Amino acid sequence: MQYGQMMDQPLLISSLIKHAEQYHGDTEVVSRLSDGSIHRYTWAEAARRARQLANALGTLGLKPGECIGTMAWNTYRHLEAYYAISGLGAICHTVNHRLFPDQVRYIVDHAEDRALLFDADFLPLVERLAPELPHVRTWILLGARAQMPAHSPLANLLCYEDLVASHSDHYAWPQFDERTASGLCYTSGTTGHPKGVLYAHRSTVLHALASSLPDAFDLSAGSCVLPVVPMFHVNGWGLPYSAALNGIKLVLPGNRLDGASIHQLIVEEEVTMATGVPTVWLNLLQHCETNRLRLHGLKRVVVGGSAVPDSMTGHLAEHGVELRQLWGMTEMSPCGTMSAPKFKHRHGGTALMRQLQATQGRPLFGVEMRIVDGAGEPLPHDGVAFGNLQVRGPWVLSRYFKRDLDASHTDDGWFNTGDVAKLDADGYMRITDRTKDVIKSGGEWISSIELENILMGHPAVAETAAVAAPHPKWDERPVMVVVLKQGTQATRDELLQFFQGKVAKWWIPDDVLFVDELPHTATGKLQKLKLREMLRDHRWPNDQ
Ligand code: AMP
Repeated sequence: MQYGQMMDQPLLISSLIKHAEQYHGDTEVVSRLSDGSIHRYTWAEAARRARQLANALGTLGLKPGECIGTMAWNTYRHLEAYYAISGLGAICHTVNHRLFPDQVRYIVDHAEDRALLFDADFLPLVERLAPELPHVRTWILLGARAQMPAHSPLANLLCYEDLVASHSDHYAWPQFDERTASGLCYTSGTTGHPKGVLYAHRSTVLHALASSLPDAFDLSAGSCVLPVVPMFHVNGWGLPYSAALNGIKLVLPGNRLDGASIHQLIVEEEVTMATGVPTVWLNLLQHCETNRLRLHGLKRVVVGGSAVPDSMTGHLAEHGVELRQLWGMTEMSPCGTMSAPKFKHRHGGTALMRQLQATQGRPLFGVEMRIVDGAGEPLPHDGVAFGNLQVRGPWVLSRYFKRDLDASHTDDGWFNTGDVAKLDADGYMRITDRTKDVIKSGGEWISSIELENILMGHPAVAETAAVAAPHPKWDERPVMVVVLKQGTQATRDELLQFFQGKVAKWWIPDDVLFVDELPHTATGKLQKLKLREMLRDHRWPNDQ
C-alpha cells in the first residue's frame, strides 16, 4: 500500500472562523438581544473577539480537554464562545436550559464543566443550581458591566465584556488531532438521565461541509440564514459552523422566537433561508395570516426535529417559500436526510414535489441507512416495508459520553435511532413513529405521525397528537388529542369523519380529546409519554 502525497492537515473548527475572517470579513452577523435591540457586526469582529476570549479562558486556567458550559440564546456572544472554546481545544458543552432544573444540574455536573458562560436571563437558575455544581470554578455572565448584578452568591462571577476587552486578540489557534473532542450536547430523553453526545472537530467539519451542499441546506456566500433552532440543541443544526465555512450573513434571533419577531427579522434582514422546528413555522404562518403579511425574500425554510405537517408545505408555498424537510438527531450532529428532489423528478409538477416534501428526505453523502425487523434482519428498501431505522457514518455517535456500549449500537456497528421508518429505492424515508410511540392495534402498527399529518390538514386544528390508549379488545387504539385554532369550532364526529378515505378503515382513530395545550419536551417535541399517561384510563365512547 502506498499513501497519497497530499498534506495531512487536520480538520479543525478554528479553520472555519479563520476562513470567514479572511474571505468574508465584512459579511454581517446580526443578533437580536434580550432587550429587543439589534446588534450587528462582521465575521472579522467575531473572529477577533473569539481570539480575545480564547486568551481570556486560558488566563483563567481553563485547559484543552476540559468541558466549558454555555447556557445562552442564539446571539453573537454565544457564537464567539463556540469558536473560542473548541478552538483552544476545550469542549463546548451547550446546556439546554429548557430541561428541568434537576436535569440541568445533572448534565453540568456529569460533564464536569469547569466554567459556565450564561446569558443574564439565566442568572436566577444558575444562582440556584451553583451550590450543587462543585466542578464549576468560573462563572461568566455573557453581558456588559451594566448587566452585572449588584450582589450575587456566585463566587468569582465575571463580566464577559470586561473579560474580552482586557485580553489581546493575538492568538494562534493551536493545531491538534482532528479527532479531538470539540462539543458536547445532551439528548433530552423522556426517561432516565439525558445522555451526552461528544462531537469531534473532524465530525463537525465534515458535517458542516456535507450539510452545506445544494441538496442539503444549499448554503453559499450569497445567502442570509436565520437559524431559529437554538444553538443549545445539536449546535443549532451545525449552522454556526457551516455559516462560517460558507461566509453567509447570519441572523441570530436571541430569545424572541414568536411569529412577529421572526417575521420582522426575515423582512428587515433580507433572510433567504431559515431553519427550525415545525411549531416555529406554525406560529409564523399564523402571525402572517392574522396580520395579512407576506414573507418577502424568503426562499426556503428547512424544517425538522419532529413530524412536519403536510399542510405547512402548501401554506409556505402560498408565500413563495419552499419547505425542505430535515431528519436528524443529536446523535447525528444532526443531519441525516433532506427532502430535495432529483433530476428525474423535474417534470413531476407540484404534486410530485409535495410527495417528496412529505418524506423526511434521502441520506446526505456520508450517512448510511438501513431498516431492520424485530430480529435485526434487514428489510427491503421498497417504500412499503417498515422497521427499526439504523444509521452509521462519520458524524454519527459511536457511544454515549461516559457510558459503556449498550443496545444503542448493534454488534456490527450501526446506531439504533429509535425511529421506525420506510425507505424507498432512492433512499427517501418516511418516519412512521418513534419506536415507543407506535400504536399497536390488534398486533398491527398504526403510524401516529400519519394520523397527525392528516388531521393537521383540517382548517380548525392548530395542533394534534395521535396517542395509543389501552383498549380491551384491540390492545391499543388511536385517540387524537387536539388543540383547536382560536375562534374555530369542530366536533369529535366531524374530526373523525375527516379521516374517511384517507387511511385504511381500521386506522381511523376511535376518539378525540380536546385540550387547550399539548405538552412539549425541552426541544419542542410532543411529549407522548405524558399524553399516554393521561389516556391510561380512557373511557371509550359507546362501550366499544
Ligand atoms: P433530537 O435528538 O432531539 O434532535 O431528536 C431526534 C428525533 O426527532 C428523531 O429520532 C426523530 O424521532 C425526530 N425527528 C427529527 N426530524 C424529524 C422529521 N423531519 N420528522 C419526524 N421526526 C423527526
